[in-house]
Amino acid sequence: MAYDDGNVFARILRGEIPCKKVFEDDHVLAFHDINPQAKTHVLLIPKGRYVSLDDFSASASDAEIAALMRAVGRLGRDLGVAATGYRFLGNHGPDAHQEVAHFHVHLFGGQDLGRMLSPPRV
Ligand code: AMP
Repeated sequence: MAYDDGNVFARILRGEIPCKKVFEDDHVLAFHDINPQAKTHVLLIPKGRYVSLDDFSASASDAEIAALMRAVGRLGRDLGVAATGYRFLGNHGPDAHQEVAHFHVHLFGGQDLGRMLSPPRV
């Protein structure tokens, strides 16, 4: 799938629409999800034009990939959820119901998050 510069996260990166920013560095922007699914629900996005995890893992530089992973760990600590636990989740494609076609990962925490898939689907 080709990258669409009109997607909502591209617009956030260009400053066309606001976000509640929690972290930024050269490669990553992180902000609160507009429709939180847990007490803590933050999205981390690369600044580069990647459609999904499949695209990012294949095409991003080592520096971009490392920056995203470092940011997840750092935010877990900074948001105060590292001690109690958190979930780090990325949706790729239709089976995972990816809604926004700019790669992003979710960080959920601040409460018991239940089992990984609830209810089990197999
Ligand atoms: P996904 O299903 O993994 O593609 O998740 C997309 C996420 O983006 C959802 O959790 C939405 O609530 C979130 N979202 C959509 N628009 C915005 C926005 N303008 N600011 C923050 N989060 C958003």
